[in-house]
Amino acid sequence: MATKKVTKDTLTAAELKEIKNHLLAMKEEAMARLKDKKNMDMPEAEVGDPIDDASRSLDKEILFELSGNAHNTIEQIEAALRKMDKGIYGTCEYCRQPIPKKRIKALPFARYCVNCQHSTEGRHE
Ligand SMILES: [Zn+2]
Repeated sequence: MATKKVTKDTLTAAELKEIKNHLLAMKEEAMARLKDKKNMDMPEAEVGDPIDDASRSLDKEILFELSGNAHNTIEQIEAALRKMDKGIYGTCEYCRQPIPKKRIKALPFARYCVNCQHSTEGRHE
């Protein structure tokens, strides 16, 4: 029961810590982006120059895109951090198999293994 099985796809404590730091950094970045967007929504800054206005609304569109993604990212990161606290991080939420390290490192907030990811995404077929 207390024995730890270590296969090559099991994340070590050091790796987990590294991923956690990475996730926290990503979360900070995403939150900073959301905050920037809120500041942009306050139109009281410099009003006037029509050229500035045009470029500002374009900036706003881009920021809107980004903040949409940022919000999504924060949710996914928080879910991953909760899984770490529970000690189930790195396993597929669907089939409970360990998610390969390579995938975890490429996508630290992955919830499913590749197989299940495909089957949950491919429902519309
Ligand atoms: Zn799976």
